[in-house]
Order: sequence, then C-alpha cells, then structure tokens
Amino acid sequence: MKSLSSENYKKEFISTFPGDESGDLTPRQTPGMLYSKAIPTPVEKVTLLAWSEELATELGIGKPVSQQEVDILGGNNLASTMHPYAACYAGHQFGGWAGQLGDGRAITLGEWEAPNNKYFELQLKGAGPTPYSRRADGRAVLRSSVREYLMSEAMHYLGVPTTRALSLVTTGEPVLRDMFYNGNAAYEAGAIVMRVAPSFLRFGNFELLNARKETDNLRQLVDWTISRYYPHLTGEGKVISWFKEIVERTASLMVEWQRVGFVHGVMNTDNMSVLGLTIDYGPYSFLDDFDPDFTPNTTDLPGKRYAFGKQPSIGYWNLGCLAAALLPLVEKDQLLPALESYKEVYWGKYYAMMGKKLGLDHVSKIDTDLIAQFEKTLAALKPDMTIFFQLLIELPLHMGSTQEVKEFFKTSLYKELSTEEQEMLYSLIVNYLDRLNKNTITRQYSQKLMREANPRFILRNYLLHQAIEGLEKGEPDLFEKLQQALKEPYSDKFDEFFTTRPDWASQKAGCSMLSCSS
Ligand code: AMP
Ligand code: MG
Repeated sequence: MKSLSSENYKKEFISTFPGDESGDLTPRQTPGMLYSKAIPTPVEKVTLLAWSEELATELGIGKPVSQQEVDILGGNNLASTMHPYAACYAGHQFGGWAGQLGDGRAITLGEWEAPNNKYFELQLKGAGPTPYSRRADGRAVLRSSVREYLMSEAMHYLGVPTTRALSLVTTGEPVLRDMFYNGNAAYEAGAIVMRVAPSFLRFGNFELLNARKETDNLRQLVDWTISRYYPHLTGEGKVISWFKEIVERTASLMVEWQRVGFVHGVMNTDNMSVLGLTIDYGPYSFLDDFDPDFTPNTTDLPGKRYAFGKQPSIGYWNLGCLAAALLPLVEKDQLLPALESYKEVYWGKYYAMMGKKLGLDHVSKIDTDLIAQFEKTLAALKPDMTIFFQLLIELPLHMGSTQEVKEFFKTSLYKELSTEEQEMLYSLIVNYLDRLNKNTITRQYSQKLMREANPRFILRNYLLHQAIEGLEKGEPDLFEKLQQALKEPYSDKFDEFFTTRPDWASQKAGCSMLSCSS
C-alpha cells in the first residue's frame, strides 16, 4: 500500500498534449489547448466522511492516517508529483451544440499507478473554479456528492461499467444553490468526491477538436486513446475499429442500464465516456414503478429526451456526434455502417440480457414477442420493476386464475389494477409459464440466471434522500447501512429495503424528481 502523498503519480496526458500552463483560473475559451492547469482552491476544513476500502485496496492506496493526507482529498494539499489540471471538452446538450464546456469543477490531480501496473486518473469533483467554470463556482454540495459517491459504487457492485468513487469529504464551507431554479437560493454544506477511472475522456473531448478544426490535435488524441486504452487495436484500420468498439461498449452500457432500471438523466455528449463507462452522476434515478417515459431530471421534463425508454436511442444519437467528430480522420463510407451497426448490436445484447432476466435457455424470434409483451404489460401496469422481477423468480409453475396472478404480484403494485389490466397480466403470465415449460434447462438453473440478472437491492432515490437528511443532521446510520447494502445487490441480506417506494416519496422533491443544481 502506498500513501496518497507518495510520488506515485504520472502525468502522461498533460505531457503529451498542449495545455494552458498559466494557472490562471479566469473563465475563458482555450483554443489549441486540451487542458488547463488548475490548482484546487483550499477549503476551510477537510473532514473524511467516507472511504471505499475495496477500491483503495485495488489501487494500492492506504487509508489516510494524517490530516495532511486527508487534506489531499479536499484539495488542501498536493503530493509532489501531482500536476492538477482541468480537461477541455465540448458537447451537445439536450440535442443542441453547446460549444466549449470542460471540467468546470473537476480537477484531475494525477495518474495513479495501481499494483496491476494500470493507471487511474484521480479526480476531485467540487475542488474550486477552473477556466471552464463559466459563471459557476466550481463547488459541489453534500447532497449531490453523497449521490455520486454512493451510486457510482452501487453501479460497480451491480456489475455495470462505471467510474468509481474513492472518498467523500466535507469542506466546512457553505455553498449557495438554487435547488429548484425558482429564485429560492439557500446555503448547503459543501463536499468533494475523489473520483477514479482509467480515463474521464468523453465524446465531447473529440467533438471539441473537430469543431475547432484542430485536426492534428484530434488525430493525436485518437491515437493516444487507442494506444493507451485500446492497445489491441493496431495498424491501418485502427480508428474505425476503435469507433466500432465504442459503438459496442455504448450499446452494452445501454443494455445494462435497462437491465437494472437506471436512468442517467443527462445523457449529453459531454457525459458520454469513450470507455463505455457510466459517468457524471447528477439527477439520475433508478426506476421504482416501471415507466419507460420517466425522466428524473426536471430540466428534461419538456421533451423527456432522456427518459428511461429513450436511453438506447440517445446512445445511438450521441455516437452519431462522435462519428461526425471523426470525419477528418475516417471516410464517411466507413463511419456510417459502423454507426448503423449499433442497432443490431444493441438488440442482440438486449435480447440476450432479457433472456437471462426471464430465465430462458435461449431467445428465439418468438421469444422476442414474449419480451415485447413483458415491456408492454409492465409499461401499462407500472409495477415496481425490481420487486416484480424478484417475484417472477419465485413464480409457481401453475397459475389457475386472474385473481391468483394478481395476488401473487400484489406487493409489487402501486395501484389497483382495472379488469383489463388484470387480464393483461394474466395473459402475460400464462404465455410466460408456457415458455418456461419449454426450457431445456432446469428450473433451478433458470432461477439462478434470474437471480444473477435481477438486482434485489437498488439505491432508490428516497433512500438517498433520507440518508442525506440524516447526514446533514449528524446521523450517519442510514448512509452507512446503504454503503454496506450496495455491495450485495443480488442477495436478500438487506431485505429491510425490499419494499416499494413509500407514498410520501412519490411527489417529494429529491425523491422522484431532481434538478441539475448540485
Ligand atoms: P453536467 O451536465 O453536470 O455534467 O455539467 C455540465 C457542465 O457544467 C460541465 O462543464 C461542468 O463542469 C459544468 N458545471 C456544472 N456544475 C458546475 C459548478 N458548480 N461549477 C462549475 N462548473 C460546473
Ligand atoms: Mg458533465
């Protein structure tokens, strides 16, 4: 184990690319630059609130033992080989070109070498202004930091590709936020998360260089990304092969989000990782009731562009933006078919995933009709997604009547079912049982597949809300319990959380809908 203050940091990215080394934090455009040096702005007092022990072990980082080391997690102290910077990127936000964005409140401290000789960017989120902060303060509140810290770790344990979180500290400084964008700004506790990923490079890093017509920088960034993160791709066609692999990783990620019921909420191209990771946790939510039209982001309400059911097609749209950014390097005739392959790749992975969720031995053409019937029925009945699939694992192989089926799924329902809805459910279950009878695998094996594909514990928004309220009052019990529960999402060990969202939470701000204010 090495200490955070050791000399274990490399700076490959900034030694390879042009950057603004002035250290000036005034908001500005930085043409020709891929990053700007940005030293974290010190805070009042750094207090360690949470530390991811397992991640630290993987990285070979010892838990901080002195205030000087804790200070690193809050930007009050730097190790000698760190060279903090904010990356410059652009992006499409809500379907429109937004121009230069960049790390407005994230600062990469350095590239940490793990015991497996792999490198990980250690990044502070909320460590003060950078040249890309525009009119904002570069800070983060405890509320949003707890959400990022817990959820990125929860996604990891669910098996969904994601950036990670090593630590959560409070800053002892209040931060002013207008949580509902309604003119009622209030002070909230400030906090900083240390995020970890092999790279935080986004589609937007490449879009920026294309938009600026910096073709040499673009080519160099693509080559560097391939050699460092996709080293198996070499030779003449490597750029198109790389793009195809991003298409595939993005499709996989979308399928994984559908599997666990995760809604990102802000799928702008600056929030899309070129490594296919879930990145930038903001107004996200798990689905409680199964509603493909649900978006947790209040800013997204007008068009519901980022609703649960639309995520796969937005993934495709975002890949289109990345493809466009690569046009100076690859022929359109090559990029278009690669982009178009998304649909086939996505549906192949989606049906394979749904087959496991339903415990099928394989998925045939006819099975896709059954899967469509599941989607349609769940969208109409809106049961709790997690509880419904858990019940499905234990479904008796003989179901006599509509009434019996309704009773069986009762604990997953948020509403009384109409006669028509009860019939829909019955007909679905009859078809499903019929299909299960044709399975060539044992019932036990089918159930094993289902247990592996269907989480039993999810980090629901109302639980996060309660945990944050607790922390703000100095009562960390729920926060600590959730930290444990998220590590075992497929077990029944934390069944105290195995219930539908309570009524009080359905309309309460922060429990279903969230704003981007963080
Ligand atoms: P997001 O949609 O939250 O990923 O953020 C979009 C852009 O706004 C990124 O460039 C962020 O760095 C920037 N941003 C968000 N919040 C802040 C903040 N409090 N201070 C500075 N920049 C911010
Ligand atoms: Mg972002």
